[in-house]
Amino acid sequence: MRDLAAKLAAALKERVKGRREDVTVEVSRLAHENGLSPTWVFNAIESNLLEVLHRRRGVQWVERGTLIKIPLNFGMELIDHTADLRAQLQDVQDELEYTKGELNEYRCSVCGAPMSYQDYNVPLSEDVTGFVVTFDCSRCETDGYGTRPCPSDPKFPKIEEYEFRFKEHASEPTWKWSCFAIAKTSMAHQVSIPHAMGQTMEEAQKRLIENYKRIAEPWR
Ligand SMILES: [Zn+2]
Repeated sequence: MRDLAAKLAAALKERVKGRREDVTVEVSRLAHENGLSPTWVFNAIESNLLEVLHRRRGVQWVERGTLIKIPLNFGMELIDHTADLRAQLQDVQDELEYTKGELNEYRCSVCGAPMSYQDYNVPLSEDVTGFVVTFDCSRCETDGYGTRPCPSDPKFPKIEEYEFRFKEHASEPTWKWSCFAIAKTSMAHQVSIPHAMGQTMEEAQKRLIENYKRIAEPWR
């Protein structure tokens, strides 16, 4: 098919060579003179074969099936005007991705909460400094003490990762019981639950669970 297409293109080019205006030719004559099947030429023109195959200006029907017009610019390379635009769009997209990446550094990678504080010169000891970065979701990243996971992190400790301990204050008139949550896992050690008080053990425990729910609440 490529050979036939090349043959047809050459025959058409020959027709417009040295002309000053478009040339109209009969399909059957063109086919006959060049040893091509008229049906094949018909199909080639009908399907825009030359433009599709060579990305070059082709011919048009003057009268479908019988007459074609060969434009003076026949065979000229077709310029892909959208290529420039596509390249520009790609540039813009690349830039956007880069910016997004930059912004992400200032957000919690788990839940997207904005950064609330950062310090890369925290004194850890007399001559060692560390970093601390906190986010609105209460996550804290540090190489010192105080790492705390994001509440949206699947590893955020469950209430089951704590043990309840109670303390009685016999002399207190109202708040006779305190409830403490003692971390049982390494993740639980990173998240301390404020202790709670109650008139009974049950009430103190219930309040402590409420405290847990408050701190385990995902950001937004
Ligand atoms: Zn977060």
